[in-house]
Amino acid sequence: RHRHPELNDQIEKVLDSLKISDEQLIHMMHILEEEMNAGLSPVTHKKASVKMFPTYVRNIPNGTEVGQVLALDLGGTNFRVLLIDLHGNSKIELTSKIFVIPQSTMIGDGKHLFRHLAECLEEFMQKENILNSGTCYPLGFTFSFPCQQESLASARLTAWTKGFSCSGVVNEDVVKLLQEAINEKGINAKCVSLVNDTVGTLMACAYKDPSTAIGLILGTGTNACYIESLDRVGTWNGDYNEPKQVIINTEWGAFGDNGRLKHLRTKYDEEIDISSINPGKQIFEKMISGMYMGEIVRLIILDLLQHELLFLGHRDTYSDYKAALYNRGGFYTKFVSTVETDEGIKFSNTRRVLEDIGIQNPTYDDCAIVQHICRQVSKRAARLAGAGLAVLINRIGKSNITAGVDGSLYRFHPRFKRNMERCMETLVNKDIKFKLTLSDDGSGKGAAMVACVAERIF
Ligand code: ADP
Repeated sequence: RHRHPELNDQIEKVLDSLKISDEQLIHMMHILEEEMNAGLSPVTHKKASVKMFPTYVRNIPNGTEVGQVLALDLGGTNFRVLLIDLHGNSKIELTSKIFVIPQSTMIGDGKHLFRHLAECLEEFMQKENILNSGTCYPLGFTFSFPCQQESLASARLTAWTKGFSCSGVVNEDVVKLLQEAINEKGINAKCVSLVNDTVGTLMACAYKDPSTAIGLILGTGTNACYIESLDRVGTWNGDYNEPKQVIINTEWGAFGDNGRLKHLRTKYDEEIDISSINPGKQIFEKMISGMYMGEIVRLIILDLLQHELLFLGHRDTYSDYKAALYNRGGFYTKFVSTVETDEGIKFSNTRRVLEDIGIQNPTYDDCAIVQHICRQVSKRAARLAGAGLAVLINRIGKSNITAGVDGSLYRFHPRFKRNMERCMETLVNKDIKFKLTLSDDGSGKGAAMVACVAERIF
């Protein structure tokens, strides 16, 4: 076996605990498939961890859609308001503005959150000269949290994720809460549809590439949706007209919440979970997504440091407990990308990152070890996500399948895509050709398309 000279046995052991073999991935794919079926069955849906929510989105766009639609995109780092002009013939014009959701609003009163969203919408429409214009604009709401959808324009929040936890929203219809806040301000907009970011991504990608059947997010969190045949959706309570298909929002971030991924988790994963605001929840997501990846790396670095396996020349600096290294969230996920862009032996980016977290003048070995850790953690994440995607692709079973992908982790990490594709080549059935396409601005555009379809503008 290839051995890196700078890694001693103890470090190797830590890195080995992050390795997941192809056989383990294949086994995990079987478990995921079982969990997906449990989510789709009316008998087991209620207690299933992978919820497989039907979205009520049945048609994908074909590029001929025309209309002017607003969209709100909430569900992660940024809150965005968008105005989208669909010109038909696959052309889209878009203006948007990012607004900040203050931390206190993220965990405060729900009423306050929705009032804030309405205020941002009002400000944006004012700026675009469409406020009080006499037209009531259809609005698509991208709300990227697990929801039990009851129709295209009503959805009950099941649980907050990704750092949000506003009171008085769980089990409520979030479209109703949004519309009430919009009406309170007398804004000329009507929310006609709710989708999450995976559906938005699928729709936006399908607008350009009709073989798109999957939407995948690898950002703050991770989730995926795909087009499923109605005959496999036991929980479906809508009509059975053509097309006999519906987009299923898997909410696969919660895969493993019932303990079935225990064998793949490390002590670092357990630590991440225990100190999170939603312990026991979103287990698959916590092994993959941007909100947690940097923190996993930090916990491993700290562990090695405490066992005196790293930064040996820096006892005086690393005992500085004020350093970022010692603080939760002190190692950003974007640092993982930066460290992994270093090729060869100079480690100029890695050095910069280490200095950022409080390690002055790291040695060659320090840099090499930290890079190994980053590679191992991100590769594990990519392989887990790739295996999940392979389950969806094999299930759809068409000869050509495109997955639209969005999220900063996928977009900016230098080898995430490659690592995913590499493992998928083994895991996807041989007769299927698959493609991963980066979606730009997917979640907002896609929501507008759904709203457009809902309003039958085209
Ligand atoms: P969201 O998913 O919240 O809508 P993003 O897709 O931008 O928004 O994802 C944000 C997440 O991506 C954060 O957790 C952040 O750590 C991570 N991220 C940001 N920049 C990078 C980068 N250069 N490399 C890897 N991850 C990144």
